[in-house]
Amino acid sequence: MSDPSDTGTADERPGTEQTEPRATDGGSERGYRTVAVDEVENTPNPTRVKRELDEALGVSAFGCNYYEADPGEQVPWGYHRHPDHEELFYVIAGAIDVETPEGQYRVAENEAFFVPADAPNRAVATGDEPARILAVGAPKTDDGSVIEERCPACGEVTDREWDRDEGRDGAEVYVLSCADCGAETRRFSGRTEMKES
Ligand SMILES: [Zn+2]
Repeated sequence: MSDPSDTGTADERPGTEQTEPRATDGGSERGYRTVAVDEVENTPNPTRVKRELDEALGVSAFGCNYYEADPGEQVPWGYHRHPDHEELFYVIAGAIDVETPEGQYRVAENEAFFVPADAPNRAVATGDEPARILAVGAPKTDDGSVIEERCPACGEVTDREWDRDEGRDGAEVYVLSCADCGAETRRFSGRTEMKES
């Protein structure tokens, strides 16, 4: 921390003014921003709740997402890896099991789990209560992922493509298909709140 005596006038110094630094509407010259997590739009994902804090706050260097997943719900689309992207999962509440080629890791409440670049993983909420997770990853520009699951149709370990479809009750559902043979491999129920557009 630098000497506060050369960081401007008393009115500009953190801790010296009475007002809280909540420049939430682009009102900050330097880009300070605050957001209420509950007010960040919920975005398409197999999990019940995914709020892209990085998008809401304009973060450019790292990804940051907040998730809530019911027990048994998986957090990502599938067993996947990010070739050039590191991740950290902080379990705020509940617990997750992370499947890896080296076995399964249990990450409990108030624990953090690191996923190195190119390391396959799939996180599933476990236990009795919904898991609340903060996921941070960097660099943001290299967050592309490769899903690697065996396709029941062609029998190969393949990547997935996804699309939206309308479920029986009219709710939106997500459909995953094999990137090689095109067969539908998984359908996620439309529990996810959708942006109204
Ligand atoms: Zn296939």
